[in-house]
Amino acid sequence: MTDTTTPARDLMSKFDPLIAERQALIDSGVTDPFAIVMEQVKSPTEAVIKGKDTILLGTYNYMGMTFDPDVVQAGKDALDQFGSGTNGSRMLNGTFRDHVGVEQALRDFYGMSGAIVFSTGYMANLGMISTLAGKGDYVILDADSHASIYDGCKQGVAEIVRFRHNSVEDLDKRLGRLPAEAGKLVVLEGVYSMLGDIAPLKDMVAVAKKHGCMVLVDEAHSMGFFGPNGRGVYEDQGLEGEVDFVVGTFSKSVGTVGGFCVSNHPKFEAIRLACRPYIFTASLPPSVVATAEVSIRKLMHAHNKRAHLWENARTLHNGLTEMGFTLGTKTPDSAVIAVLLDDQEQAVAMWQALLDGGLYVNMARPPATPAGIFLLRCSVCAEHSSAQISTILKMFRAAGQAVGAIG
Ligand code: PMP
Repeated sequence: MTDTTTPARDLMSKFDPLIAERQALIDSGVTDPFAIVMEQVKSPTEAVIKGKDTILLGTYNYMGMTFDPDVVQAGKDALDQFGSGTNGSRMLNGTFRDHVGVEQALRDFYGMSGAIVFSTGYMANLGMISTLAGKGDYVILDADSHASIYDGCKQGVAEIVRFRHNSVEDLDKRLGRLPAEAGKLVVLEGVYSMLGDIAPLKDMVAVAKKHGCMVLVDEAHSMGFFGPNGRGVYEDQGLEGEVDFVVGTFSKSVGTVGGFCVSNHPKFEAIRLACRPYIFTASLPPSVVATAEVSIRKLMHAHNKRAHLWENARTLHNGLTEMGFTLGTKTPDSAVIAVLLDDQEQAVAMWQALLDGGLYVNMARPPATPAGIFLLRCSVCAEHSSAQISTILKMFRAAGQAVGAIG
């Protein structure tokens, strides 16, 4: 008799190597870097982890908006007035006053005619890329693109062409091989978040335009502090009006959750009618869009915060360089400072030593990182005080010496 209760093949068995790898890490006596719990969050830069007061240097809270009193109040008011959720898609019953409000705030922030909000930044890329590039079209993307960009390609039916990370020459070469008349979307990121390096957007956009492509730039890691109006690397490099679509997120500088795309394209609104990750999911809760709207409007005037964020990035980058650490970039190009380590063992040991000392950073490894690199990613916040940055540097020196990463 066949056993009808046991499947012929346990589909979960494909995860055995992952389970074993995680177990080996835990058995080595370290804290699991991918199972951290914030027991309390006291401010944008401080939390309690494992009962210990910890400085946060591994969140994307670049502009420190999560505890801004106006932002928090807007969320509370919306919760009182509109309830806890929308129970539906934007297409049907899920468009509330503040979804419209936050889209207007985005149009004002970017100075563009169109703005569409998605439930996350991941879904904004998934939706925009898969909807824009159809059958017979091409998506041309940087090899180090974020997972959401790759997944947007997989979700769609266009042909995919990758070029070498940040190589204008390779982009040009690959575009030159594609049919001149085909629809082409070049997808770039302003800041690449693993190493913290920025894209040579000016040259890349020029090459893309030369080959008749449309351009989408993901500015997730630059909003609020690149360019005169904080619009991103594209604004910083003088590309206003040359980029067709800008994708962003509320989960970083804005300090809540959600994603968006802005554009000046006259037919942009049609995306709402065709984009599956926009249509077939519930819209963001009213409290979330209300906080996002206030945060975005405040970011338009956050010049002091912006200046302090850059000062923190420079101080941390210079201090770590002087200590002898190898960093992801030679100069402080963004708010991400990546500390490169020799291997997984050293990275985990260093991460653990920092945590034990009261500092949280992100542990990153392949496949999230390019070229098999193990690194500790530091994301600087505008709300880190100068005293905290000094403390952080001391913690890095102690941990780096303890694990032999520096002399
Ligand atoms: N794009 C990039 C470049 C990102 O780094 C991320 C998130 N880390 C996203 C998109 C997705 O954003 P979200 O967290 O809003 O889904």
